[in-house]
Amino acid sequence: MKKIMAVNAGSSSLKFQLLEMPEEVVITEGIVERIGSDDGIYTIKISGVKERRVLPVKNHSIAVDLVLNDLIQKGIIHDLKEITGIGHRVVQGGVTYHQSVLIDDEVIAEITRLCDLAPLHNPANLIGIDAFSKILPDVKQVAVFDTAFHQTMAPEAYMYAIPYEWYEKYGIRKYGAHGTSHQYVAQEAAKLLGKPLEECKIITIHLGNGASLAAVKNGKCIDTSMGLTPLGGIPMGTRSGDIDPAVIEYISKKENLSITQVINILNKKSGYLGVSGVSNDSRDLEQGMDEGNERCKLAIDIQYKRIADFVGSYYVYMGGVDAIVFTAGIGENSDRCRAEVVGRLAALGMTLDEKANHVRSKTTLVTTPDSKVKAYLIPTNEELVIARDTLRLIEA
Ligand code: AMP
Repeated sequence: MKKIMAVNAGSSSLKFQLLEMPEEVVITEGIVERIGSDDGIYTIKISGVKERRVLPVKNHSIAVDLVLNDLIQKGIIHDLKEITGIGHRVVQGGVTYHQSVLIDDEVIAEITRLCDLAPLHNPANLIGIDAFSKILPDVKQVAVFDTAFHQTMAPEAYMYAIPYEWYEKYGIRKYGAHGTSHQYVAQEAAKLLGKPLEECKIITIHLGNGASLAAVKNGKCIDTSMGLTPLGGIPMGTRSGDIDPAVIEYISKKENLSITQVINILNKKSGYLGVSGVSNDSRDLEQGMDEGNERCKLAIDIQYKRIADFVGSYYVYMGGVDAIVFTAGIGENSDRCRAEVVGRLAALGMTLDEKANHVRSKTTLVTTPDSKVKAYLIPTNEELVIARDTLRLIEA
């Protein structure tokens, strides 16, 4: 029995889960938010009960200190030595990492080199790794890459039709994201289909504030919607997803903005938020829609159309599909979203089971028994994948 910490460090947040492995039992979980400010928010959940505190949290090391001290004070662990491994989500692993690795100086150097490809994410992941190394220098740490699962794509799926030298010189290609989530829910879907994953054709739809799809054929990802960075693919909470690249120059001239400023708007002020002008949260958009706000409806409709576009193209690319899977915040919680998307996929012979679909965050078949393609709601569990990989690598 080992205690493993699964960590997801963002630029101003640190999400953690402490698991007992290999039993796969969550001992506790929580998040430190607004790191770097005087009113940081620390939330920890113990036996299903949430505790919340507002306090200054100057940096990630202080956040790690706060969490570890609290684990001892609350008697969740008696000694820091009980933590035998720490697994970190790392967003960009480039072409270097097809799977998770034990972190050493060389791995740190490579993740640092890859910051270029994920400037919003990899630096934060490195800060998280560094913070834990300082406080628990003897505990093995593992990097679990968001991109690793997508490394099985063929060149025709990951290459852009741009000058080849850009790929050779700078690695410009599709890398994808949410890999641990796509991999996990595809595995769970195969269990429900009663077939080995190696014999399944599954389309996974990770639909949260960030969102992406993956085509998983015979256990391998053969295409995914996100691109070089998490800005590509379908529209999201605040990200535009794919657009005509000429828009960038056009709008930079019209609004007198630099390319960096335009990209920032495409990352932070587009998607649901940009189109609706109301919010990046699908709950607010659904409420706006109910109140007759046309732009809320449009923001959602654009996204649903793009999801259906990707599913249709993956259906053709895979030569059919056994099941599609909805996961993450919206995919797990919004019955309306699942109903709308399945409705747009009627041409594939999909029919929704309205009663079954009236559910939240619980593994469920949401299509009727005669639906040619099944649709499942499967809650994702990225922390569990991180903990499994960490256990496997520290024991190897
Ligand atoms: P995630 O990034 O996976 O944490 O998902 C965040 C998204 O899930 C936000 O856009 C939330 O609005 C959405 N979400 C959470 N609960 C619900 C719900 N009950 N109905 C619709 N969307 C939800």
